[in-house]
Amino acid sequence: MVSYISASYVYTNAGQPIKNGVVGIDAEGTVMKVLSPEQAAHIEADRIKHYEGLIVPGFINTHCHLELSHLKGAIDKHKGLPAFVQDVMELRNADAYKDEYLQDSAMLRADIEMFDCGIVAVGDISNSAVSRMTKRGSLIHYHTFIEALGFNPETAHLAVNRALALKEEFVPLHASIVPHAPYSVSEALFNELKKIAEADDTIVSIHNQETADENAFFIEKEGEFLELYFMLALDIEFFKPSGKSSLQTILPLLSNSQPTLLVHNTFTDAEDAAFAKQTHNNLYWCLCPNANLYIENRLPNVNMLREAGLKITLGTDSLASNDALSIFDEMLTLQEHFDIPVEELLKWATLNGAEFLGLAERYGSLEKGKRPGINLLGFTEVEGRIKLAKFFRRLY
Ligand SMILES: [Zn+2]
Repeated sequence: MVSYISASYVYTNAGQPIKNGVVGIDAEGTVMKVLSPEQAAHIEADRIKHYEGLIVPGFINTHCHLELSHLKGAIDKHKGLPAFVQDVMELRNADAYKDEYLQDSAMLRADIEMFDCGIVAVGDISNSAVSRMTKRGSLIHYHTFIEALGFNPETAHLAVNRALALKEEFVPLHASIVPHAPYSVSEALFNELKKIAEADDTIVSIHNQETADENAFFIEKEGEFLELYFMLALDIEFFKPSGKSSLQTILPLLSNSQPTLLVHNTFTDAEDAAFAKQTHNNLYWCLCPNANLYIENRLPNVNMLREAGLKITLGTDSLASNDALSIFDEMLTLQEHFDIPVEELLKWATLNGAEFLGLAERYGSLEKGKRPGINLLGFTEVEGRIKLAKFFRRLY
């Protein structure tokens, strides 16, 4: 039995938005047909449920840390990334936050919150296996990025073995082993991770240029990361600055064939973007604007990233650095600060993320045979220009 829904505009991500378009779906939410009002004229009017708003595919959150959900509100805003990283490390080990029930219930709530916010698939960073059961029982599709880190080159093998053991714990869930960030992974560890990514033919994710201190460290061995290493009692005498930005230093160490997500890009400039395009064939650029405002009170140069023609995706980051896990909220923040057509913003929130996660056969667009989740968004229309308005409802 096909049921029909219609809205002021239907954004399929496979062609132009359809004014008063009609979507036919089966009981499971699989798209059976997408029709223009003319094509739907033969369907009796009372069989079509009409909504005021934009019908769009389910959202893809390409960057989250479910396991940090219990740290919601625990870290002050605008402290900067090096201090934030330090706080996360300290809080994760603090007795008050070690309670398993507290962690489990926070992850479950976060998972339900994401579902309710219309998110259908998540790329989730994990440093431990605590999120495994939440993910197994979830209605959301998860790909877990098991994060390897260690800036001391002598610990590279240890970090790899730990990550491999952790990956076993996530079986049968989708997971791949990835580097954490340029400032926390040694060249030796990057080399090991490259071999693993190519052998497993997997997708890769890495935090990139989230703070100005990251570039300062690679260009001239300056900035606040020096304090972080001091706190970790790590002697970084061995480290020689490259004189280049962090991205230009580490990108050649990644496999250039695997789909790779650069996360944050808050301090990425046009030269970095041009270098990246030349060096790597399969890059995606994840923006987490609300987390950037939370931690650094800065936003990436989104206009430059658009002009460079990069494939952009969206992420929420964790509840340690965000008030909510909502891709729609990230879209509203971007719309508030930049002039981005809704159609383009929507591709970042849906299709590009589905493509990166290798899920485009099911998610990312409203096309026959897909079961992508369906959301209804509020909108305003001024002189033919559509903008998002703060109303949201998950339909399927
Ligand atoms: Zn992150």
